[in-house]
Amino acid sequence: MPTAFSHPAVALALRLGAGARAVPVRLVALAAACSVLPDVDAIGYWLGLPYGHYLGHRGLTHSPFFALLLAGVVSRSAARFRASRRSVFVVVALATASHGLLDAATSGGLGIALLSPFSNERFFLPWRPIAVSPISVIGFFQSRSLWVLASELVWVWLPMIAVGAVAGLLRREWVLAAGRRRAPQEPSERQTEPESVRRRNYEEHR
Ligand SMILES: [Zn+2]
Repeated sequence: MPTAFSHPAVALALRLGAGARAVPVRLVALAAACSVLPDVDAIGYWLGLPYGHYLGHRGLTHSPFFALLLAGVVSRSAARFRASRRSVFVVVALATASHGLLDAATSGGLGIALLSPFSNERFFLPWRPIAVSPISVIGFFQSRSLWVLASELVWVWLPMIAVGAVAGLLRREWVLAAGRRRAPQEPSERQTEPESVRRRNYEEHR
């Protein structure tokens, strides 16, 4: 997995892309928590549940199905996060589902049960540039933690910030263009009386 420090980069990208109105601070905090939540299955790992088990690490909680289920439940309390139900659903679903996809781009461990609960088959993405982080906190600090964090900076934080910033720019352009379309049109040249016609009318009616 990328570390718990890096999954929340997705929450930041969603805020940058969708803007403060659709994703207020409370929803950013919720999205950051949801982006890390799938690793709650590490409890089973420490309790002796096999890694490859249906409920083992990178199992059900790492699937898009779990993300949609969680989004459906949490969006019922949308008012607490000062956002619409639709915003909370989409943001929570994307933040939670992104966890499994980022894990699938790591260089180690077992694959991700992306089709769970319908199949426990484990998947990786074809390209896995993110250095895998140890599951235990002690293991993280005893190992090449700086290398892992540097890898996440390059392959998680920078791309997420770039994608969020570009999406935010496109959204602003789209809003401005929609505003221009709604604005009253300037009178066309045909509607404006040319100077020569005005002068002739003046002469005729003098
Ligand atoms: Zn994970």
